[in-house]
Amino acid sequence: MAGGPGSYVFGEEERKELMDVIESGYLFRYGTEGVDGFQHKVASFETELASKLGLKHAVATSSGTGALLCCLAALGIGAGDEVIVPGYTFIASISSIILSNAIPVLAEVDDSLTIDPTRIEPLITSRTRAIMPVHMLGNPCDMDAILKIAKKHNLYIIEDCCQAFGASYKGKRVGNFGDIAAYSLNVFKTITAGDGGAVGTNDDMLYERAFGFHDQGHKPSRMGVEVGNRSIIGMNMRMNELTGAVSLAQLRKLDMILATLREKKAKLKKHLTGLPNVSFRKLNDEEGECATLLTLMFDTPELAERFGEKIGAKPIAYSGWHVYNNMEQVLNKVTGAAANCPYNCPRFEVEREYHKHMLPQTDFNTGRAVNISVGVVDKGLGSGFGINIKSTDAEIEQVGEKLRAIILAL
Ligand SMILES: *Cc1c(COP(=O)(O)O)cnc(C)c1O
Repeated sequence: MAGGPGSYVFGEEERKELMDVIESGYLFRYGTEGVDGFQHKVASFETELASKLGLKHAVATSSGTGALLCCLAALGIGAGDEVIVPGYTFIASISSIILSNAIPVLAEVDDSLTIDPTRIEPLITSRTRAIMPVHMLGNPCDMDAILKIAKKHNLYIIEDCCQAFGASYKGKRVGNFGDIAAYSLNVFKTITAGDGGAVGTNDDMLYERAFGFHDQGHKPSRMGVEVGNRSIIGMNMRMNELTGAVSLAQLRKLDMILATLREKKAKLKKHLTGLPNVSFRKLNDEEGECATLLTLMFDTPELAERFGEKIGAKPIAYSGWHVYNNMEQVLNKVTGAAANCPYNCPRFEVEREYHKHMLPQTDFNTGRAVNISVGVVDKGLGSGFGINIKSTDAEIEQVGEKLRAIILAL
């Protein structure tokens, strides 16, 4: 089965939350307590999510992509604004910037496969408004270094936490470091409702704007729906009660999932220490990462490719659509110009084009990296092989020894 760890642990809890909603017959997120059996699962999910992650506010959305759009809209990022984003990420990080009519500026990743803080400053221009660090493959970014740069240049930080639900950096959950953050509940993420997402923030004004953007400009919980009280043009990215019910049950399993994955990953790693030609991906927080994947970094791309062939996988650079080189929707296209603009767009003095191999360091690091699944089984991430959250000690040993033998024979 492919999917994230959450999808492997569905059980009575999800069924119960879901049945509450089905039996009530009322599936819309807004209602009145005690009326029509309203179960307020979405509202409960938001409250529990904020409290679990240590955030002041959360807004449930229909996807992580939607959550990113809400983050950008909340910050007022739009026409002509530049946002620095890594070239190794899911395309939604980049497309949400383009669809906000802003300009993604692609940055290199280092050997943690997250944005390289030492490569950010040369990308900053007078138009730069924000940095979007992506906590990729469950691994928090080097937030200390990124925060320092953002502060120095007066830039916003939008944390893309879609692949790192519940991860922490230096004891604090991701999403608390920047101004605003996006989470995903897609099937391939840490916890899942099939699809879904959330915005998190500690800022009252950004919360109100993000909420408004996700629901036609309304104030939180649709207080102030009266004419004259809506301050922002919004969309409909609302979560419904069915998704809210499953999300709530999954959220309550988050810490169990993370603890289980960390334990299983440590067991798998034991079989692979001290091997020639390979090391583990640098982790910016060893204890706080999600442990959804084990990423092996070979000394050269050739070794990674040979290793990949043996396990039926490909180096990250060639596996799916998480590397800018594989984003044909963006490559050889121009942003910041009228031609690529959805509607009513000015022409800016600076245009940016995206080309294959424009980020050599990212090409090198993703070319020599191979993902082994621990909790996220996803060919699109290159992690079709490995273990899952249900794997027994015997299975982990078998996979570990197999990988060890292959590496020793490379
Ligand atoms: C999955 C993902 C998204 C988008 O989330 P969806 O819920 O699929 O819309 C955004 N950014 C990253 C890094 C992701 O992995």
